[in-house]
Amino acid sequence: MNGGARLIRGELLYCLADPGDEGSKESYVHHEDGGLLIQMGRIVASGSWVEVVALAPAGTPQEDYSGRLIVPGFIDTHIHYPQTDIIASPGHGLLDWLERYTFPAERRFADPAVAEEVARFFCDELLRNGTTTAQVFGTVHPGSVDALFKEARSRQMALVAGKVMMDRHCPDFLSDTAQSAYDDSRRLIEGWHGLGRLRYAITPRFAVTSSEAQLEAAGALAREFPGVGIHSHLAENLAEVAWVRQLFPWSRSYLDVYDHYGLLRPQAIYAHCIHLDEADRARMVATGSSAAFCPTSNLFLGSGLFDLGEALTSGVRVGVATDVGGGTSFSMLRTLGAAYQVAHLKGYVLPALRAFYLATLAGAEALGLTDELGTLEVGKAADFVVLDPAATPLMARRVAWAESLDERLFLLLTLGDDRAVAATYVLGERAWRREP
Ligand SMILES: [Zn+2]
Repeated sequence: MNGGARLIRGELLYCLADPGDEGSKESYVHHEDGGLLIQMGRIVASGSWVEVVALAPAGTPQEDYSGRLIVPGFIDTHIHYPQTDIIASPGHGLLDWLERYTFPAERRFADPAVAEEVARFFCDELLRNGTTTAQVFGTVHPGSVDALFKEARSRQMALVAGKVMMDRHCPDFLSDTAQSAYDDSRRLIEGWHGLGRLRYAITPRFAVTSSEAQLEAAGALAREFPGVGIHSHLAENLAEVAWVRQLFPWSRSYLDVYDHYGLLRPQAIYAHCIHLDEADRARMVATGSSAAFCPTSNLFLGSGLFDLGEALTSGVRVGVATDVGGGTSFSMLRTLGAAYQVAHLKGYVLPALRAFYLATLAGAEALGLTDELGTLEVGKAADFVVLDPAATPLMARRVAWAESLDERLFLLLTLGDDRAVAATYVLGERAWRREP
């Protein structure tokens, strides 16, 4: 009757730009009693409740989340869905952990039934945690990406994913070749990229596991498909950095390897970026490439402390990411809590509003999806999450003492997790609800 129109009421918050350390008034929109009018999956009015309700046709159904915070759906810029089942597996650093847990787990994805079952659970878990968009590693098997895209499409989620390219320094059962990686990736791009809300990312695992011929093939794909993403790992730990130096003796740095093969550009996202120098950061800025900051993973694998303050000051685009299964939580709230702590250890105090920016609009910027995602402005997709700052008894006590929006946001990222996600909406439809 109303073309699927509905009204959502609650405390509205979203960023229009990086709020920086000061949180300038122009950088965000906040309505304590706010509303969204949604039609056909898009936001058609957004603002104070009084304004928005006046624009709605009579009889439009209303959902009232007063006392809760409505923010854009979280954007996880780096996560491995095939590692869902090995989260919380101990290891002695990245390279050992890959051998002992990751590669055997990824082997199972040769079976499409396994891929389908994990993809289903994975998408459920994203939504339960308020994550509406993620950039996702598959395995080396093209079928792993088919399964994930099929699942995401059935839920109308805006997902970015790619098949891992990996032709050396890995078990034979997970190895492709330069040519097969090129052919399979190409087929996946042609089949899925731009289909509905799905997008493809060219996904070499990391410089260590791709031959020079394979990195050349990745570069060729990047040239042939300028609209697709590029997704890999960079400078996660020192042993890995040293290995890359050995394997590519001609390179100035680890980043320089990807640069050499034409893999730096806007919508190229590199997880970790812990051990970069000033020249690397300048090159990332010049090419518009982004870093995915994965604090729980970096702490768990003992990889190192990302210098968030330095990256932001240098103008490097940064998104936040869970990096499950090296990361220890699907929750972007918990990830922001860890981000705050890691930044603090590097001498930077991350303001709560800026943290929310990193988990929402900054992710959309990194993925090149700001036309569609990252804010709750009119015209955007109605992907949003309803957060409950009083989700647990302790949070309820603490929020009673909170005197500002900033304090409420800060307690959400310090104490919050999936329990604080009251509901998640994809294209205006409720895709998850905590309470019956
Ligand atoms: Zn990763």
